[in-house]
Amino acid sequence: MTARNVHIRECRRCGLPYDWRRSPSAYLKMTYCSTLCERADLGFTVEALLRDVHFVPRTPGLSTLLAA
Ligand SMILES: [Zn+2]
Repeated sequence: MTARNVHIRECRRCGLPYDWRRSPSAYLKMTYCSTLCERADLGFTVEALLRDVHFVPRTPGLSTLLAA
């Protein structure tokens, strides 16, 4: 073993050490080594959750547009 890498994290699910900067999980890369572990542990991925949220701001301009 070389000097301890500060970027190495231990996956909460599989316990494997991984470089969190290389984790494909965009939001929980500090917790899980991959989206597979993230999904297996949570039952979903944060990415999928955010994709389902459709945020439409209610602005005066939009109301005028819909009323027309
Ligand atoms: Zn893992």
